[in-house]
Amino acid sequence: MMSYYLLLGIIALASAAVSQRLKSKFRTYEKRALANGMSGKEIAQKMLSDHQIYDVEIISTPGRLSDHYNPINKTVNLSEAVFSGLNAAAAAVAAHEVGHAVQHARAYKWLTMRSQLVPVVSVASGMSSWIVLIGLVLMFSSGSGFGYPIALLGLALMALATLFSFITLPVEYDASDRALKWLIDENVLTQEEHEGAKDALKWAARTYVVAALGALASLLYWGLQVMRARD
Ligand SMILES: [Zn+2]
Repeated sequence: MMSYYLLLGIIALASAAVSQRLKSKFRTYEKRALANGMSGKEIAQKMLSDHQIYDVEIISTPGRLSDHYNPINKTVNLSEAVFSGLNAAAAAVAAHEVGHAVQHARAYKWLTMRSQLVPVVSVASGMSSWIVLIGLVLMFSSGSGFGYPIALLGLALMALATLFSFITLPVEYDASDRALKWLIDENVLTQEEHEGAKDALKWAARTYVVAALGALASLLYWGLQVMRARD
């Protein structure tokens, strides 16, 4: 059990370290203006038209690192710093989000699967730990047989949310690959700027890896608790 808490601690530390590193990488690459003088919005616009995608809108969204692609209304949502930013970090994020729009336009299978899971997972991930807890309380407090199946239901929902966080990984890596390939092919950035963009996206992807491992660790933890309660 001790080693389990150690593992959870390591994952929590890794998560904090990765997000710190990501922020400092972005601060670094935000400092230098792009040689071509393009904003994140202009980069996104060019990447969309280079892929013959004309039905996706690029909009500015509040917050920091809040950038995302919304497949429901086909919008590339760029945070203010990325939307009007004239630097390698903004270029990287803008191209990455358009990478998701390209995945959508090409019906990339992992994105399709992820999108189908979104409505279920958004409900499941919020409720799952509560359902497991209710199940555990019932298992301990009463002799009724309801506790165990309720706990199992909670675990199943938790497993679904964990699966979702793993399906997110190929989707994220693929969007970055598409972004970097396009940036190279179209000579959008200088060699040095491209290295910066690549590094920024690498750290952004690592936040998803840490999140997936965290989800798996907590699934194992609650699974263990339910198995113990049953004995
Ligand atoms: Zn992404």
